[in-house]
Amino acid sequence: MAQNTIPLEEIRLLASGLFDETVRVRRDIHAHPELGFSEERTAGIAASCLSELGIEVFTGVAKTGVVGVLDGKTPGRTLLLRADMDALPLQELADVAFRSRVPGVMHACGHDGHTAVLISAARLLARLRDRLKGRVVFVFQPAEENLGGAKAMIDEGAFSGLGIEAALGLHLITLLPCGTVGLRPGPFMASVDLFRALILGEGGHGAMPGGSVDAIEIAAKVVSGLKAHLAGAITPGGRPLVNIGTIKGGTAPNIVADTVELEGTVRCMDDDARPALRQAMEAFLESVAKDAGGSYELAYTDGYPILVNDHHMTDIVRRTAQDLLGETRVFELEPTMASEDMAFFLRMVPGCFFFVGAGFGDPAMDYPHHSPRFVLNEDSLLVALQVLCTAAVRFLEGA
Ligand SMILES: [Zn+2]
Ligand SMILES: [Zn+2]
Repeated sequence: MAQNTIPLEEIRLLASGLFDETVRVRRDIHAHPELGFSEERTAGIAASCLSELGIEVFTGVAKTGVVGVLDGKTPGRTLLLRADMDALPLQELADVAFRSRVPGVMHACGHDGHTAVLISAARLLARLRDRLKGRVVFVFQPAEENLGGAKAMIDEGAFSGLGIEAALGLHLITLLPCGTVGLRPGPFMASVDLFRALILGEGGHGAMPGGSVDAIEIAAKVVSGLKAHLAGAITPGGRPLVNIGTIKGGTAPNIVADTVELEGTVRCMDDDARPALRQAMEAFLESVAKDAGGSYELAYTDGYPILVNDHHMTDIVRRTAQDLLGETRVFELEPTMASEDMAFFLRMVPGCFFFVGAGFGDPAMDYPHHSPRFVLNEDSLLVALQVLCTAAVRFLEGA
């Protein structure tokens, strides 16, 4: 079978030949961004490309998700390749010719690039079909930003019966310069859970507070004490990061507020610690509210689990990136407190989620993700395509 091995150089050349088309598709998607679970146009582009390639396509998975199944010439392993398609509710301020044509919606996280790269990966791997072993499942998922499109697809049973054994996904990232790859085996990205706490007091006159219970005073104690309380609740591996993102309460300067609403997130690097964090928050709210004569209601929602990269799959990506880019261009990153719903795929099967540098190496041009001025260095699309396809072929060939 050795003579059937597909050389790295061939994949590199095929990817280079697809670069202009990848940029074109990415710019088209960028100009027509769609929010989570509404990615109809984007999904249509992916689906029609897959079916033109003779790849079996399933559409409407978890509303707008697309799944393509490419079978190689000989049976073998099955690998899932994933891209997310959703944009963000943001007015674009980037000065590019292909600026968003949809007011208030923008691809400010690079998911337009992920989708374009995966479409090109389908083109590239379909060309190699006659020498490809096993099966590639292309997943274009909806709603990565907060809404958990990956979980919705899995819950719908979209992958049952496909025999998926491993998964690869990537994020283009402006924090790293173009031409580099960053990754980490084991726990890599944090879990995130969302909470909404309602602090309930008793309203009254600002001049005669007797008999009233000031919900703003209780909320102030919650805000100042919550982080320390949760930090003390668990083991060092699960050290949490709490953010209170909104606070709303009161109606007038001379009225004692009877209600304050707090919303926020709790992140940590240990899934086992998540129930304890929730309990600790509940206990803290209970004691602070009760001490002041008030009460509380807590809505606590499980968000994304921690993202854990498989060591073997991460090795495949690392070696591939080193071969393509050079050893000094591949970094082992520290765990990040950011979250990703790719974590759901990596709970389903072993896999690797890695970062592909998409920065210009120029602080004047490198804006953070979710910024209205976010711009991708499009050369990163080629790096992403080469690394993804080469790692995929190596896995399918038994690496
Ligand atoms: Zn994002
Ligand atoms: Zn993202």
